[in-house]
Order: sequence, then C-alpha cells, then structure tokens
Amino acid sequence: MRIVLLFLLQFGLSAWGNAWALSLSPVPVAPNVYAFIGDTGMRSVENEGMNANSGFVVTDEGVVVIDSGSTWQVAKEIHRAIRAVTRQPVKIVVNTGGQDHRWLGNGYFKSIGAEIIAARPALADMQARGAMQLDGLSQTLGEKAAGTQPVYPDRLFDQSETLRLGGQEIQLLYFHGGHTPGDSVVWLPKQGVLFSGDLVFVDRLLGVLPFSSATDWLASFNVMEKLGPKTIVPGHGQVCDLDRARRDTGDYLRLLITHMKQAVDKGIALQEAIDSLDQSAFSRLANFDLLKGGNASRVYLEMESQ
Ligand SMILES: [Zn+2]
Repeated sequence: MRIVLLFLLQFGLSAWGNAWALSLSPVPVAPNVYAFIGDTGMRSVENEGMNANSGFVVTDEGVVVIDSGSTWQVAKEIHRAIRAVTRQPVKIVVNTGGQDHRWLGNGYFKSIGAEIIAARPALADMQARGAMQLDGLSQTLGEKAAGTQPVYPDRLFDQSETLRLGGQEIQLLYFHGGHTPGDSVVWLPKQGVLFSGDLVFVDRLLGVLPFSSATDWLASFNVMEKLGPKTIVPGHGQVCDLDRARRDTGDYLRLLITHMKQAVDKGIALQEAIDSLDQSAFSRLANFDLLKGGNASRVYLEMESQ
C-alpha cells in the first residue's frame, strides 16, 4: 500500500512538474527563420530564466541555433520546439553574448553534437561570470537549473564570420559589444533579418549593468543600423523593425549619454545629474521603475571615467 502511495505521489508530482514546464513556440520571421520570444520580466521559476529571445535558421544541411537558452532544460525545450518544425539536426549554436540566457544551454546542444561559436570577447565574459550566473540561476530556479553547467564555445571569431549552410548565408558580426563586452549579432542578408542579441531591447527598458558600456553599445547600435535590417529579432521584446529599435534602444542610450556627459563636463554631482535627467519618454517600457535609477548612475560613472 505504501509503495503504491509513493508511486502515486511521485507520478503525480512529476506530472505536475511537466505541466508547469516552460513551453516555447517558434514564431516564423521569414521562410525557414524562427524566433522564440521570451518573457520580458525578471528571471523566475515560471520563465525558467528564459527572459530573453533566441531563434533558429533551418537549412538543407542542418539547423543553426541563435542562443542556447538559460539552462540545460530550456535548451532541451528549444530543441523539442525545433524538432516540431524540422527533422534537420542542430549543427551550429551561436552565442550572441555572455549573459546567462545566451549560453548556459550550451551543454545540452554540445551533448547532441552541435558546434558552438561566439565572438572572442564573449568567452572572457563567460569565464569571468559563468560561475556567478549559474549560482544565481540555481538559487532562483532550484530543480529547474539541474544539469546546467558552464560549457564554453568550441570556436571564436573576431570581427566577422560567414556560415554557409544549405544555400543559406548567415553572417556573425561583432562591433563593439555594449550590454555585455561580447555582444554580437547574426545577420541574414538575403532575408534582411537581424538577430540583434542584447544590442536591442524593445517593449522593456534596457539595463546598463556593471559590465555594460553605454558608449560601446551606442557605437555598436550605429553600425548595426547601417545593415538596414527589415526585421529585427531583438534580444528582449517582440519582433520589430529598425524604427522601433531606435525608439526603444538607440534613442534611450543617446539620452543617457548626452545628459550625463554634459553633467560631468559641467562638474555636476552624481545625484543632481540623476535628478535632472528626464527619462519619462521611456516610462511606457516594462521594468522602467526598476532600472531607470541604475542606468542613470552607471552612465554618469562611465562618463566620469572617460
Ligand atoms: Zn539579455
């Protein structure tokens, strides 16, 4: 009797667990190009740390995944969702940066034989922050982070690398980093589709973090604009066009930098510079109240150190 009860309890719990597992649905962006749109809130048990976008390109010679997700289990879910679209194997995974949700799913994809590629500065960032990221995720996600290990890219590129697979041309481009030092983009010139990684945030306020550089970020954004993408899969938020990316990311970075540079040049103190900055044009974006103060003070400190 006790065994039966234990069995029922265990079976019931695992069914419950599965019912609550993250489920990803690919959004078609162009023929054979798909995005996964993650939650725009903070990392949580419900979103399994996948509060960011990723995606994939299907070719006749295999699939290229853009960003491996936040955990082993999320990577496995990405793979399940890909297999619902194609039987082609995942050949290559690109990490567009060193944030946890861009690369901590690498271990799963490596286990199914994929090669992992990233821009060179992303590796140093992963090595510096990987243990801390995993610690943070384990605390937030508990069991949901099980099996996740920091697995580094197999291959690095410097400025650019072009993947040619099954007639598709997939360009990996590194500009100057920004949100993180290793931020790169994936550009599909034929389709006019850009996977911007963390260089573009829409719908939610971007975060200038201790390892970010607003100056580098805006410089990267300016180069990226010149590609003239028709469609952008941003790092965070819904699929958008360049105008939207400018409104939610480029314009905001420009506001922060211009205001704080002037303040530092005039010898205005940090608190006064923060108080006199009007960010209200961006209050429509999610996480505004949470991030606006930190963004202002970090960009001030960055301008002061230049
Ligand atoms: Zn991100």
